[in-house]
Amino acid sequence: MRPPVLEVANLNARYGRAQILHDVSILLGRNEVVALLGRNGAGKTTTMKSIMGMLRQVDGRISYENQDILGKPSYMICRAGIGYVPEERRIFRDLTVEENLEVGRRAKRENAPEWTLERLFDLFPNLRERRSNLGKHLSGGEQQMLTIARTLMGNPAVVLLDEPSEGIAPVIVEQMGFVIAELKRQGLSVLISEQNLHFARLVSDRAYIIEKGQVRYDGSFDDLDQHPEISRKYLAV
Ligand code: ATP
Repeated sequence: MRPPVLEVANLNARYGRAQILHDVSILLGRNEVVALLGRNGAGKTTTMKSIMGMLRQVDGRISYENQDILGKPSYMICRAGIGYVPEERRIFRDLTVEENLEVGRRAKRENAPEWTLERLFDLFPNLRERRSNLGKHLSGGEQQMLTIARTLMGNPAVVLLDEPSEGIAPVIVEQMGFVIAELKRQGLSVLISEQNLHFARLVSDRAYIIEKGQVRYDGSFDDLDQHPEISRKYLAV
């Protein structure tokens, strides 16, 4: 594995009295794409929100570029270079595509590519055509792309993508695969949460499987193929 850029160790997270994550440990290497696989409710979003400093009842260790980030506020974590694309699309419905992107603009960061509108439109050609349209007039898939594009305007070095293939048409899923490959080519590190093993395999270097808030598998997709019982047990395949 490449040297880790993001390290999650023995992460526990609670909502009220319910413990949701149990000793979750995950490494994301520099310029790696890693999938966090699991069924609905397995704890994928909770893991991502913990990394982003969005939850209060969290313990363990989370470090980014060897700096502890657990307990830091979300805006500092974003500013340090981690971008988060939540599962639900978060766009401004009454702003145009271009205005949505401008809202996400942040200063260029060391170790991360600088995204301009034109570079983003090269990656998301549909958005170029729709640049003057209001967010609410985009299709679901376009809104999904806009959410990702807006996060990239923050010039992150690491991107957390929560279920990027969920609820979008197959042709958009294909574009999504292209986008993730391109992010890797540009030097970013990407953690994607997925229920879709087929899609995860196409875009990721290796995988973790999480179930009931615990990591049940950590390894390559080839090794996972050797143990079909694991996918059967923990994933909807
Ligand atoms: P999904 O695909 O449904 O998002 P997930 O793997 O991302 O699945 P999480 O959203 O992390 O799962 O949820 C993990 C568990 O935490 C679930 O049992 C869920 O019901 C519970 N949970 C999530 N959010 C809250 C909350 N705000 N309060 C209480 N329990 C919650």
